[in-house]
Amino acid sequence: MTNEERAKLMADVEAYCQELRPIEELCYVERKFNPAIADLAKKHNILGMPVPTKYGGRGADSLTYARSLARINREGTGPRTFFSGQTSIGQYPIMRYGNEAQKQKYLPPSCRGECTLAFGLTEPDAGSNPLEGTTTWRKEGGKYLINGVKYLISNGSIADAVIVFAFDKEIGVKGRKMSAFIVETGGATFEKEALHSKPGMYTADTAMFQMNDHPVPPENMLGEEGAGFRIAMGSLISGRLSVASGCLGVIEDCLIDVCEYSKMRMQHGKPIAKHQLVQDHIAMIEIMRATADAMIERAAIAKEASEQSPNDKALLAEADYKVAQAKFWASNAAWQAADRAVQVYGGRGWSELYRPGRHLQDVRVCRIYEGTDEIMKLKIASKVLGGKEWEAFK
Ligand SMILES: Cc1cc2nc3c(=O)[nH]c(=O)nc-3n(C[C@H](O)[C@H](O)[C@H](O)COP(=O)(O)OP(=O)(O)OC[C@H]3O[C@@H](n4cnc5c(N)ncnc54)[C@H](O)[C@@H]3O)c2cc1C
Repeated sequence: MTNEERAKLMADVEAYCQELRPIEELCYVERKFNPAIADLAKKHNILGMPVPTKYGGRGADSLTYARSLARINREGTGPRTFFSGQTSIGQYPIMRYGNEAQKQKYLPPSCRGECTLAFGLTEPDAGSNPLEGTTTWRKEGGKYLINGVKYLISNGSIADAVIVFAFDKEIGVKGRKMSAFIVETGGATFEKEALHSKPGMYTADTAMFQMNDHPVPPENMLGEEGAGFRIAMGSLISGRLSVASGCLGVIEDCLIDVCEYSKMRMQHGKPIAKHQLVQDHIAMIEIMRATADAMIERAAIAKEASEQSPNDKALLAEADYKVAQAKFWASNAAWQAADRAVQVYGGRGWSELYRPGRHLQDVRVCRIYEGTDEIMKLKIASKVLGGKEWEAFK
């Protein structure tokens, strides 16, 4: 990507955010998914930011994409989560693990806004350990038939195609391996339901779906048979970097808001920004911003190095480790920054009418999805201790 292309992409992202804000404000109050998230993104041609230009994307490197997501998440964790589902864990596995025919079939329409994507790994009884999943595939009549339930899936009720992970039905629990499929969501054998009982992130689509002998054509297996776990874990590196980047956006937005509000709000005869304890909140939010920014930058650089040499296992491990650190740090920093911003706003902070209160609700899930705080810590500790033999979940 050239400097001009990068500047143009960031300008398009900025224009998108300017148009999205009033719509997102309204939808947040109305508590419903906002289709403008996708429609406007189509208008500004940002539905495939890191997808190579030959497949209709913008060809963004990892750091530019991370910066774009930070900007989008200033508008809300809901809109950024749509991009994660569509691109970071939707288009990404096809880009990285798909064959040429799969790339040609799914990437250009998804960049044009004609195909919404999602990533279906989690199940009711398999979250932190996807290997405990019960979704199965079997081959019959020249196609795959998939059975199972996927739970808590971003874009799950609006997706046209989902990356689904399933086990061979013929193999028992011992020795079985997961495979990945590009599953189109049409037809009566694919039932979906949006999940609305969420304390925040109202404008993101979170759903469950059930597949009952759902047919998938043979050419839609992603990667080779049994490679599903590797594909899932590789894709989650991309997803986690987007969560971390989004959290940076939350912190940036909280900082903008607290600076503006604390200069304007008068108490005890002066702007509250002049009270030392309010300055403590502002200083800590800025420290959270600067540290999250630095960790995301080094994680994005590590991920980009891995993208450039996809067969280099050491580079992949380094990216995995640095992205896990950035995801843990940025999501916790954003949670603290939003909490401090609410405090600076006082009673108005405890309201969905102002942005800090929304960020506080919305960003909490970032410490859970795409790998919880605890799973990130286990990953970091085992690496520091000396590698795979120290993995606590084994
Ligand atoms: C809004 C939202 C959107 C989501 N989007 C997607 C999506 O698009 N695609 C998708 O596949 N999934 C998605 N998820 C699912 C998400 O990734 C899981 O919720 C997450 O991985 C945790 O799994 P779980 O909820 O089953 O919790 P569990 O795995 O049951 O964990 C419960 C608690 O136990 C802890 N724990 C588990 N194992 C260990 C261990 N070995 N050591 C220490 N602690 C442990 C966890 O850290 C956690 O604190 C989404 C979730 C939400 C809430």
